[in-house]
Amino acid sequence: MSENVNVTGIFGENVFNEHAMRERLPKKVYKELHKTIDEGKELDPMTAEVVASAMRDWAMEKGATHYTHWFQPLTGFTAEKHDSFITAPDEDGNVLMEFSGKELIKGEPDASSFPSGGLRSTFEARGYTTWDCTSPAFVREDATGAILCVPTAFCSYTGEALDQKTPLLRSMEAVQAQTLRLLRLFGNTTSRKVFPSVGVEQEYFIVDHEKYLQRKDLIFTGRTLFGAMPPKGQELDDHYFGVIRQRIGAFMKDVNKELWKLGVPAKTQHNEVAPGQHELAPIYEKCNVASDHNQIIMETLKRVAEQHGLQCLLHEKPFAGVNGSGKHNNWSLTTDDGINLLEPGKTPHENIQFLLVLCCILRAVDRHADLLRESAADVGNDHRLGANEAPPAIISVFLGEQLGDVLRQLVNTGAAAHSLKGGHLHTGVKTLPEVSKDATDRNRTSPFAFTGNKFEFRMVGSRDSVAECNVVLNTIVAEAFSDACDILEKAEDFDLAVHDLIKEYATLHQRIVFNGNGYSEEWVKEAERRGLPNIQSMVDAIPALVTEKSVRMFEKFGVFTKAELNSRAEIQYEGYAKAINIEARAMIDIASKHIIPAVMRYAKNLAETANEIREAGADDSVPVEILKRLTALLSEARKALLVLKDVTRTANSLEAGEKQAHYYHDEVCTAMAALRLPVDELEMIVDKEEWPMPSYGDLLFEV
Ligand code: ADP
Ligand code: MG
Repeated sequence: MSENVNVTGIFGENVFNEHAMRERLPKKVYKELHKTIDEGKELDPMTAEVVASAMRDWAMEKGATHYTHWFQPLTGFTAEKHDSFITAPDEDGNVLMEFSGKELIKGEPDASSFPSGGLRSTFEARGYTTWDCTSPAFVREDATGAILCVPTAFCSYTGEALDQKTPLLRSMEAVQAQTLRLLRLFGNTTSRKVFPSVGVEQEYFIVDHEKYLQRKDLIFTGRTLFGAMPPKGQELDDHYFGVIRQRIGAFMKDVNKELWKLGVPAKTQHNEVAPGQHELAPIYEKCNVASDHNQIIMETLKRVAEQHGLQCLLHEKPFAGVNGSGKHNNWSLTTDDGINLLEPGKTPHENIQFLLVLCCILRAVDRHADLLRESAADVGNDHRLGANEAPPAIISVFLGEQLGDVLRQLVNTGAAAHSLKGGHLHTGVKTLPEVSKDATDRNRTSPFAFTGNKFEFRMVGSRDSVAECNVVLNTIVAEAFSDACDILEKAEDFDLAVHDLIKEYATLHQRIVFNGNGYSEEWVKEAERRGLPNIQSMVDAIPALVTEKSVRMFEKFGVFTKAELNSRAEIQYEGYAKAINIEARAMIDIASKHIIPAVMRYAKNLAETANEIREAGADDSVPVEILKRLTALLSEARKALLVLKDVTRTANSLEAGEKQAHYYHDEVCTAMAALRLPVDELEMIVDKEEWPMPSYGDLLFEV
């Protein structure tokens, strides 16, 4: 009998949410706090003091002894430093448990130890974490005990963003302001707030923890650097949506329980395409909360996996030749009174608004395809984008047949007069045929697909923060709305002006729409003909951050300063170089100390076998042949190893920055691939007992 989980009972029990706040804060304080949460009003110290002590009491009842400012520096991970609530012992040697308003609002981690991309040298070494009261505090239980986690933003002394969250919050404000402008033009006087809604589908691999510990490459880099394909891969497609194995099921059950307690609305779980691969998706939430929750999901997956003797791999490509992992960022715009601007809607009036929104988004994506691509760039994702399984490296928009047809009509005639499903809609200028959701077929190959009432950005890597792509999405859409409003606010005849603008945008930006197979070779050629960028690697994607176009837009909407963008580009180059350097060194280490010795042992064994067979007067040709192939590959591997050592040394000696990153990409990655080739072939020859680590088959199928 499986233990019952009282979902509604445990949901959010470890979150200092609305319910907890209402219950524990004096009415006046609760109201004041809400002015900050809702209207961005500055929090006064007295209110902070009362909130902090209520939060402490609540957290201590959950067993918390420590608190931490939980933040997302540009390391790719979350960061935290734990402080206990205790005060200095008094004369009697007794301590109190305290948590002040100041401690709640502001922390000062040593900023110099986090990546700042040159911001530190030009500005100041100090950095502060500040409470993001729009994302609720929570108590996390793990081996260190129960910790009160306060979501925070991380900035330098002079206010430069050093984290993922600060620009995300800024971009949410930008898109809210511009969307409200647009809504007012359409006569909406009631919506007061607009926020991007985001639902993130998270893919991951699960392997056995004991086996994981025997793979130094997984431990050091998160992916396998060597590994021959097992006899069975994913060709049967029998894993996708397949029955979930017992051990995985028990793990998922605990993951859900933990997530629900933390207020993460975990909803969907299933097996993914590759053996050992799974997916988890929560229900969508406000953008910044969804982004925090995605971090919590990743941390929870890892933690709970270990409790089950498993290991969760979040790397984008843990196994060569097997599907990698990404996450789908589902995005829409929602008002406080429940309007989804991406809902095609039922009335012509709303449809025209939808059409304009849609065309603005096409414009935004077409203009800033390079930035969107960049937002999905990370070291691991280089193995997916453009490869035969993930969205290609080319950004395009999938609209589906019906919307695609509407767009064509707009371009050809200036008005959409009918929908493909037949129903003739009398529309004149301002109509869009009603789009029924099922009229839109699915297209799994598009990197940016309209899926009924939201866009799904599918390029993001499984390990990456979704903050980056949402910063870009929010800001480019804010810009497109702003441009449209600039024109429409001045128009004498609004209806006519909207109509003209829709037609203009549809015509100008139709090239970004592609409803066909994004994985095909033809599309690559077609995209080139259309002049769409095809950016193959992370190092080639980074410059998009600092183009004049990018700087102008981000500065205009107060999301990034030029200095911040430059710093982010620097951090990315450095991060890339460091990651590849670790991979190269891990490869060198594993090849020199484990693989080559093992192959030599096996070679010796073979030689002795051959000798003995010959001495016994029998045919020794088989062991001799194997031995010859083995030593040939061994010498190939040894040569490749020396080359890899050499280029890695050179790479290391270069000054950090763009050139160094390119050198790692061009020379070191190539040398790594050259070493892997003979080693993977050796794995197929050497006695399994002798091979120094578990195989792909062991990892993927024996969980
Ligand atoms: P699909 O199967 O088409 O990928 P799902 O309905 O399973 O879509 O949803 C995938 C994710 O998208 C979930 O996290 C879901 O909550 C989220 N989602 C659904 N509607 C919206 C919306 N309007 N805006 C943002 N995210 C949404
Ligand atoms: Mg999806």
